[in-house]
Amino acid sequence: MGLNVVVMGPPGAGKGTQTERLAAERSLPTIATGDILRDAVRRDTPLGRRAKVLMDQGHLVDDETVVGIVRERLHQPDVAAGFLLDGFPRTVVQAVALDGIIAEAGLAPLVVVNIDVPADELVRRVLDRRVCTACGTNAMPGDHGPTCGKCGGEMVRRSDDTETVVRERLAVYDRQTRPLVEFYRDRPMYRQVNGATTTGQVTAALNEALDAAKSRLAGARQPA
Ligand code: AMP
Repeated sequence: MGLNVVVMGPPGAGKGTQTERLAAERSLPTIATGDILRDAVRRDTPLGRRAKVLMDQGHLVDDETVVGIVRERLHQPDVAAGFLLDGFPRTVVQAVALDGIIAEAGLAPLVVVNIDVPADELVRRVLDRRVCTACGTNAMPGDHGPTCGKCGGEMVRRSDDTETVVRERLAVYDRQTRPLVEFYRDRPMYRQVNGATTTGQVTAALNEALDAAKSRLAGARQPA
């Protein structure tokens, strides 16, 4: 059974950076709805044009659209060994839909990790971070030069990483996404991790949470 992980946390908590590290260490595919939407914007598809207006205002894209994207992705064969979801679900409607997709696709129960960071720190980080225009790699404060360490592409600030939009995204997070903590908190495979430490310490804490979840999943599969 796969390790099916939801990486939660407010904008700037380090979800992208941490998911990238976990994906490399554990050879799991990442499904980042923000990256999928930004790719549609870059390719100027009808979805991209619709999403860009909402993204640039810091608002969420409608549930039906993002659930559709994730449903299609979770029915592809490479997720059998597990996956990392970054930026999805972001509403209770999406979380309920995700439980349905997991059940219909016969996938293992979700492991939910929530990266917690104080609001002031989030604004500072978001204004400092850059993303590669060519491959979409995120770089956190202090780590980025003018070009991408992976592909040499240009590193720019995301168009939704301005102070006004970030404050709106944090407000949207509080209103629409934070209730998900309540939704998941009582599940045995929910873990909260302190995201206000170093990148390496957060990765270590997440790995610990994933290892604990893996043991729990293995235990649940033992015959009685
Ligand atoms: P992110 O890269 O995860 O910060 O996402 C950037 C933007 O994409 C968000 O501010 C939303 O406008 C949109 N987005 C990404 N994921 C979702 C989602 N699960 N539901 C709705 N909108 C999303």
